[in-house]
Amino acid sequence: MHLEGTVLVGPDFEPVEGRVVVADGEIVRIEQESVESDEVILPAFVNAHTHIGDSIAKEAGEGLSLDELVAPPDGLKHRLLRAADHGEKVAAMARTLRYMESTGTGTFLEFREGGVDGVSALRDALAGEGVGFGERAIEGVVFGRDDSDVLSVADGYGASGARDADFDAVRAATREAGKLFGIHAGERDADDINAAMDLDPDFLVHMVHAEGIHLERLDDRGTPVVVCPRSNLVTNVGVPPIRELAERTTVALGTDNVMTDSPSMFREMEFAAKLSDLPAREILRMATVNGAEIAGLNRGAIEPGADADLLVLDGDSDNLAGARDLVRAVVRRAGHADVSRVVTGGEPVVQRDD
Ligand SMILES: [Zn+2]
Repeated sequence: MHLEGTVLVGPDFEPVEGRVVVADGEIVRIEQESVESDEVILPAFVNAHTHIGDSIAKEAGEGLSLDELVAPPDGLKHRLLRAADHGEKVAAMARTLRYMESTGTGTFLEFREGGVDGVSALRDALAGEGVGFGERAIEGVVFGRDDSDVLSVADGYGASGARDADFDAVRAATREAGKLFGIHAGERDADDINAAMDLDPDFLVHMVHAEGIHLERLDDRGTPVVVCPRSNLVTNVGVPPIRELAERTTVALGTDNVMTDSPSMFREMEFAAKLSDLPAREILRMATVNGAEIAGLNRGAIEPGADADLLVLDGDSDNLAGARDLVRAVVRRAGHADVSRVVTGGEPVVQRDD
């Protein structure tokens, strides 16, 4: 198959008029040529941090603090998750997966609660098990927690935070299994950052309260960071120093709990771009190739040999027509209504015909 339009090529998203040629789920080549198409072709998004289990609890808990809302074991989210049955959770997650696909996300890195059962529920949602619509094409990189057996079914371990438990043994077991270890750090305050970094994680999540010493350690180690600025705003913990982090290491964007924020990468990009005033190219990298790099996947940039996970926008929509800078328009302005196609693994999964 091939897609025609203005292609945002490579990790710098250079706009090239022409076509992307795809075969066997891979990008084969980019052909520069004059074409009759207003479409804009970019990599599908990689949402680098989600908790989609709480899709059963959207907008619950107005006015609660971070701990009252999401802290294990008895934050509101965990009580609602315990009270919901398996089928209800699977169905709610499946609808979130479908929404993520329709807003251009091809891959997500999920921190799943509830041990082995929690991971199985997400796998059921991905497989469309009993939810009334089919298997989803979006790829989940699933980080389990709560028991060490979870490594047998998950792609990695996603720790709640260094102050919640001693993670040394599970850190070692994760490395032994050749899987990824991620951990929340510096969300409420700076107190758990050094302990999290001592575990030598593959990535840190949040780092809202990163201070000089932590930034220096990031400089030394280059540990990637996933930031979730809209979530931090909702839980009233401050905003991450996106610019300072990005000067030192790989930074990716995540939408965090579905309970608190819609898992649309368009919304996260616009917010991160306007909050940090970083160049749009850099924000788009945070929403695509940087998250893929953390997960060890070859996608998120349009270049030969990369996975063909692509997002096609209507560049002549009422929202995008006349844009003078396409990358800025994609990052700061585009939304769900501009999506004309989403391609995952070389196959169209969302197609709008109007
Ligand atoms: Zn999280």
